[in-house]
Amino acid sequence: MLTQTDKAQDLAERFGGATADGEFTPQDVPISQIAREYGTPFYLYHGEMVSERVRRVREALGTEVAYSVKANPSLGVCQLIAREHEAGAEVASSGELAVALAAGFAPEEIVFAGPGKTEDELRRSVKEGIFAVNVESLGEIDRLARIADEEGRQMGVGLRVNPSAQLMGSGMRMGGTVGQFGMDQSELEEAVRNTLTYPQLALRGVHVYTATQVFDVEPLLEHCRNIFEIALEAADYAGRPLEMIDFGGGFGVPYFEKVSEFDLDSFAEGFRGLLSTYRFDPRLEGCRFLFELGRYLVADAGLYVTRVVDVKRTRGKTFAVTDGGMNHHLTATGNMGQVFRKAYPLLNLTRMSALPEEEGVAVAGPCCTPLDMFGNNIPIADPEVGDLIGVFYSGAYGYSASNLGFLSHPKPAEILLLDGGSRLLRAGGSPEDVLEGQKALS
Ligand SMILES: *Cc1c(COP(=O)(O)O)cnc(C)c1O
Repeated sequence: MLTQTDKAQDLAERFGGATADGEFTPQDVPISQIAREYGTPFYLYHGEMVSERVRRVREALGTEVAYSVKANPSLGVCQLIAREHEAGAEVASSGELAVALAAGFAPEEIVFAGPGKTEDELRRSVKEGIFAVNVESLGEIDRLARIADEEGRQMGVGLRVNPSAQLMGSGMRMGGTVGQFGMDQSELEEAVRNTLTYPQLALRGVHVYTATQVFDVEPLLEHCRNIFEIALEAADYAGRPLEMIDFGGGFGVPYFEKVSEFDLDSFAEGFRGLLSTYRFDPRLEGCRFLFELGRYLVADAGLYVTRVVDVKRTRGKTFAVTDGGMNHHLTATGNMGQVFRKAYPLLNLTRMSALPEEEGVAVAGPCCTPLDMFGNNIPIADPEVGDLIGVFYSGAYGYSASNLGFLSHPKPAEILLLDGGSRLLRAGGSPEDVLEGQKALS
């Protein structure tokens, strides 16, 4: 079992920057140079790691892969994925739709899912001619039909289904839950029939996404088998073949101690077996099979870098206080719904070789709340003021999942490493940004 330090060092190596001693130099660019050029804190994304991951997943599964934009909606990151031949996008807001289109995803490779789609969001989906709106309720079918009619266009519909079967994987339920997502499987027949009553709607197929951070291969395969069955049920109601099965995804990323990589190869082997069983069923003739993945495609290709501004000792404990924290990276501080706060893999990027402190360092952000901690016992090299601390697995649910306005610090920059050089994807902010858009009382 890899320790958090092993994981951090392994990821550092994959960034091309593990030096035996001294500082982290991803793709031969010293991290201090990047920090000087763009200022701290910043997110650093590794372009080749993103592209390779997309290719590897698609080849392994033998299906289409759609990128869930909410994991990292940075335009440059989306462009890298859009450039991968045939990659699609899954969006959940008009903003994500805008970024997906700007990144170059073809409309017929985009699906729109998510509860609470507004009138405006449905209308944009219709106007842009995306492949499918994955509807979350019976009511949404009618709203979409009205809008498609008003726009005089045909619109693809995926039915998001919440399966009745309760499948368990390590304490995580995949189906049989109650929530705002999708419609009950018992409503499937009505949903299919309602969709077919509207000539301006084209029934694409079914969509099931019920869990994230899944590591257990067998329950996930069983879940996928169940999705095939749900799709066949829908095709029977429709009396014609389906055009799409969207299997969701939810492949896990091993952020924490005692968790190992999701076994993609063994899942893929099982999935290809299922695919060969079902794909020649006439009810799935010409059907597109797709997985929509967020964190699994981008998490390990991102590093959050923050500078130590103070080092102090209190009751025998060393604290490194950094210039960024939960305001920039909420999930890494354990503040996005985690039940137990556990540390991501961290390294002192300025002194890669130095021995870790025995009892570990507490790494805290600047946000004036005890919640703002990357961890209490992080085994990193003795920090000094000015050192750069790296938080790995930061490519997903980082920048856009954080409360960037909290404490009114400037926003971090986003930097891309590609072809051995660094470039700016999004500039960091300045203190005056806090006044932007505000109207002073006269
Ligand atoms: C968030 C989301 C995803 C992506 O989840 P990950 O855990 O990042 O892979 C996929 N599909 C839907 C519908 C989502 O809401």
